[in-house]
Amino acid sequence: MFDIVLKNGYILTMDENFTEYKNGYIAIKDGKIVEVGEGKEEFQAKEIIDLNSNVVIPGLINTHTHAAMTLLRGYGSDNPLKVWLEQYIWPVEGKYVSYEFVKDGTDLACYEMIRNGITCFVDMYFYENAVADSIKEAGLKGVLTTGILDFPTPGAKTPEEGIEKTKDFINQYKNDNNIFPAIGPHAPYTCSPKTLIKAMEVAIDYNVLYHIHVAETITEVEDIKNRYGTTPVKHLNNIGVLNERVLAAHMVHPTEEEIELLAEKNVKIAHCPESNLKLASGIAPVPKMVEKGVTVSIGTDGTASNDDLDLIAEASTAAKLHKGYNLNPTVLPAKQVLAMITRQAAKAILKYDRMGSIEVGKDADIVVIDVNQPHLQPLFDPYTQIIYSAKGSDVDTVIVNGKVVMKNKVVQTVDKDKVIYIAKKWREKILNA
Ligand SMILES: [Zn+2]
Repeated sequence: MFDIVLKNGYILTMDENFTEYKNGYIAIKDGKIVEVGEGKEEFQAKEIIDLNSNVVIPGLINTHTHAAMTLLRGYGSDNPLKVWLEQYIWPVEGKYVSYEFVKDGTDLACYEMIRNGITCFVDMYFYENAVADSIKEAGLKGVLTTGILDFPTPGAKTPEEGIEKTKDFINQYKNDNNIFPAIGPHAPYTCSPKTLIKAMEVAIDYNVLYHIHVAETITEVEDIKNRYGTTPVKHLNNIGVLNERVLAAHMVHPTEEEIELLAEKNVKIAHCPESNLKLASGIAPVPKMVEKGVTVSIGTDGTASNDDLDLIAEASTAAKLHKGYNLNPTVLPAKQVLAMITRQAAKAILKYDRMGSIEVGKDADIVVIDVNQPHLQPLFDPYTQIIYSAKGSDVDTVIVNGKVVMKNKVVQTVDKDKVIYIAKKWREKILNA
């Protein structure tokens, strides 16, 4: 007796061989995938979902965001980076970031992520206990980090305090099924070598991911050169914090030599093309990194610089951006880009044993895409259709750890009217700041 059986679906398992089942089924029990295949019609299950030939993919993994920043979506856009941060974002964050702000913002983000087929995300912000509470209610999964900086933050007066609080947070959630605590030193230009090294000691001692922004802008590269006489990736390597548990967001400006170093050290990348474009940070050398064997995944970044949490659209941007920039239509084919938001993303967060592909024994994190719509027909190639024709809003059903969190485009776990009402309330507060 299974808990749920999905049948009559076009299943893209996204395993290493890109195995597909054109008229396939998936059986789920106790939150795990227990059978996947085709050619079976009769099932004993508590719930049977007929997929009507819709396309099924693994749950999408957003490897870099600041979920609570949904409350700052569109605020102060189109200004120079310095003006945007100093006159808009930082003053509001300084005044309002609290448990309540983060919980409300993350609730809104969780609704949007479920709606768009995201089942797990990597977060870096403050009050991560609020993010954890929100994720639990929404039934999602997350790798959660509190931003550690050398100056006072909403959560900690010093980086030492930030690191101690992270240790407590890791201890609190280390055995949780949905929350994967990790450590988040913000960036090489906001953290001293001492902070970066201490954070890595914690990552190793507690066996968690080390999430950091690296080489996002030219300004950062110049700043690191002035301070340490070298470029950001080499700087991290020089101080001994470049290894396989590093998930580096952005990586827009690595040198050729640094790309080799990223591959050699097995560093993982969260590529954020839309944020990099909107903030005019530049274009990351993704095809080159992939060619050298670097694991590249994709993140939306926060909605203040994107401005949405649609990972399918983000992947579409990535696929087209690098073709155009390299004047080569064969770079980053759709199949490879879909892998970046599923299989490669699971590897990037060191959870490939549990997520990233539809295989027996893995978590039942499943996304059904409604391809029975005019803009998704005729269906020659499902990978192409998802990356170039679909949007997050074409996701029909989402299952996380075997639990249905969205069915027939209706989110089951987050109250849509409530998150909209609360977002409107925050708008008034922020405008009257
Ligand atoms: Zn970021």
